[in-house]
Amino acid sequence: KQKLLLSRDVTRLERIQTMRRDFVANVSHELRTPLTVIGGFLETLTDESHADPETQKWALGLMTDQTRRMQHLVEDLLTLSRLEDTENQVREDTVDVPGMLRKLYDEAQSLSARRHLVILSLETDAKLLGNNDELRSAFSNLISNAIRYTPDSGVITLSWIIRDGQGVFSVQDSGIGIDPEHIPRLTERFYRVDRGRSRETGGTGLGLAIVKHVLTCHEAKLEITSELGKGSCFSVWFPETRLLTQKMSKP
Ligand code: ADP
Repeated sequence: KQKLLLSRDVTRLERIQTMRRDFVANVSHELRTPLTVIGGFLETLTDESHADPETQKWALGLMTDQTRRMQHLVEDLLTLSRLEDTENQVREDTVDVPGMLRKLYDEAQSLSARRHLVILSLETDAKLLGNNDELRSAFSNLISNAIRYTPDSGVITLSWIIRDGQGVFSVQDSGIGIDPEHIPRLTERFYRVDRGRSRETGGTGLGLAIVKHVLTCHEAKLEITSELGKGSCFSVWFPETRLLTQKMSKP
């Protein structure tokens, strides 16, 4: 029995080691690409023959984009490590979900620059027990993905409803959709269906990993349904034990 336990521990350790190695390789790769671009442009700018203002402006613009990409990546990495540190903390503030969604709806409209029709559907005024900042960041991540993966004139619906006694927040989009084979892996760190597209739209490949982490800390489940070319729906199911208004309205 002890032998069996030992071999299971070794397998677990090996898995953790592989994960760590993959993670470091991924982070290095993500940082190396923008650094290479910036290094290349700096060399170009140092060369006197490229001193004309047009070339300089163009190179500086591209370097700024790459710098933003790295900043975004570092911020996401810090968020992930902070979440891991506070994994076992109790999350019991009162979160006014309808109020939060009204603000996120306004932000979504300005973020999409009115290229999409954004709809807000609040069927309940239920509040939640949880962490305000973490939930806002998770919801905001799902909304910004819907905007980024939906071509112009698409429709994005945000809703907050009660189903089977649970609180459900959903973001539905009429965007590019996801092939079902990718769905189970979407919340893995750095997993992207289309690396190029994700980068172009400023993605780091860490967004859904952060969302998943926050939701796990809130005992909530993420459900993803999607049809290629038609759109996707990301729904977050919060257990009844986390709903506030419902509990209070019971006699
Ligand atoms: P990224 O920064 O690349 O968007 P995420 O972790 O947020 O990283 O998402 C992982 C991948 O899931 C994305 O690269 C994209 O392929 C896919 N994805 C996420 N949200 C959507 C969506 N609403 N529609 C289509 N694909 C999506």
